[in-house]
Amino acid sequence: MAGEPQDDCLFCKIVAGHIPATIVRETETTVAFRDINPQAPTHVLVIPKAHHRDAAALAEADPTLTADVLRETKAVAEEDKLESYRVVFNTGPGAGQTVFHVHAHVLGGRGMQWPPG
Ligand code: AMP
Ligand code: ZN
Repeated sequence: MAGEPQDDCLFCKIVAGHIPATIVRETETTVAFRDINPQAPTHVLVIPKAHHRDAAALAEADPTLTADVLRETKAVAEEDKLESYRVVFNTGPGAGQTVFHVHAHVLGGRGMQWPPG
């Protein structure tokens, strides 16, 4: 069922504390932790605690939780004192999504190119 923890989901395991992560922020509904393979000086993933497959599924199922995730990307950027930063939701395998528990990448601390690859 949408929102329920999934046994085979890496990020549900991080939420449950079964896999360690460098957690930078936590709220009632979200967790933010450092990416294990950082692509910028700041590379933090913000996830809802509830399991949703991707950004599209989250937006459809729970607009309030969608806003919680977006608000937390701002909080992460403020904590790392980023004036400019990029928020990315890879959505679907063709866009590079590899973990199917929605996550916002917050990237900053270096110059960014556009368009992304
Ligand atoms: P995506 O390719 O958009 O699905 O992003 C998945 C991200 O999760 C990648 O940037 C990985 O480096 C990151 N990742 C995978 N396993 C872990 C982990 N155990 N802790 C933190 N980040 C992870
Ligand atoms: Zn999950």
